Amino acid sequence: MATFSVDFLGCKVSHVDAQALRERLLADGHAERAGAAEIAVINTGCVTHEALRKSRHAASRAARAHRRVYVTGCAANLSADAFAGLPENVVVVARSSEETPAFVAGAVGAIGCVQADARLDRVRAFVKVQDGCSFSCNFCVIPLVRGSSRSRRAEAVLAEVRRRVEQGHREVVLTGINLGCYRDREAGYDLARLVREAGAVPGLGRLRLSSIEVNHLDERLLTALRETPTVSRHLHVPLQSGDDGVLRAMARRYDSRTYLRRVALADGFNLTTDVIVGFPAEDERAFENTVRVVEESGATRVHVFPYSPRPGTVTAQADPVPKQVKRERSARLRAQSREASLRRWREKVGAEDVVLVDRPGRGYGDDYTPWLVDGRVGELVRVRGAAVTEEGVVAA
Ligand code: SF4
Repeated sequence: MATFSVDFLGCKVSHVDAQALRERLLADGHAERAGAAEIAVINTGCVTHEALRKSRHAASRAARAHRRVYVTGCAANLSADAFAGLPENVVVVARSSEETPAFVAGAVGAIGCVQADARLDRVRAFVKVQDGCSFSCNFCVIPLVRGSSRSRRAEAVLAEVRRRVEQGHREVVLTGINLGCYRDREAGYDLARLVREAGAVPGLGRLRLSSIEVNHLDERLLTALRETPTVSRHLHVPLQSGDDGVLRAMARRYDSRTYLRRVALADGFNLTTDVIVGFPAEDERAFENTVRVVEESGATRVHVFPYSPRPGTVTAQADPVPKQVKRERSARLRAQSREASLRRWREKVGAEDVVLVDRPGRGYGDDYTPWLVDGRVGELVRVRGAAVTEEGVVAA
């Protein structure tokens, strides 16, 4: 038996992939140990240059404390060179997310005597339904490192949702790289049908979508979301830019009017979004358009990503917007996001919500509003808003 630890950097999909690695090693009879394990697995991210830098740093640090380190995930697939020069006990595994758990388990060596039931280390369970992307946005490295879109069988997804609920998770997040591309053609499922059936699993408290492209936000999906009582009233719909010239240069497949029209259909859902700041085609006027569209969309939180060129993408060679300009635009958009969040939170004072307590004293409401709340971690608690702080709504 070997002792191991699994860590991840990056997005929810990276988290799910790390969980699959962890479960595979536990199923093979190895023992999880935080800190002092013989084997460390680091599932990495590479969406930004910063993510790649952090991934290398994590591998380098782990190499000093563990006998062997397996570097898996997006950064490993993007560039084994990024890990060149690290000690010999670092093994870079450039394989797809489907192949990686078996490869690492094979390398560690199976014991095969323990059937562990690995509970997720987070309160909400992330269930991956789809991987890869066939959209080819000009700045994005994901199709290169994760391949084109493919979906899990609906039967397997629903079985995993049932298993997570049996393990005690009250909330399940359906996760994918491009969730709206979900299809199980053989069994006749799209995302709307999957939502209806996953949301009806007995014992499930709440179902969320991790993120959805605006192209997929249509009446069929929205009707399924509205008619499934467990579905949370929150949607994360990436905007990336509110300027049509920049959206074209990004090859984003929609314009700002389409974005606004589609998110308006999702009336009643709390909208959050992603924006890339300082894309090569973004001048002052284009940035002002983004500020305006964010405002008009009603988004209550914006994840701001200063643009960094990624190797192998169409825009890999271009980065003309000065760092200082990116910093100023990012700060302005973050301030706008902060104001929008506070406005949303203030509406909660005197109102009721159901909060999933995910850390001591903290949790998220149905529409993903952060709450400061007492209650047992992992439980859904009914609350009433009493006040607002910089960190969220205070429960009475
Ligand atoms: S939709 Fe575009 S940004 Fe999103 S993963 Fe696919 S290629 Fe990347």
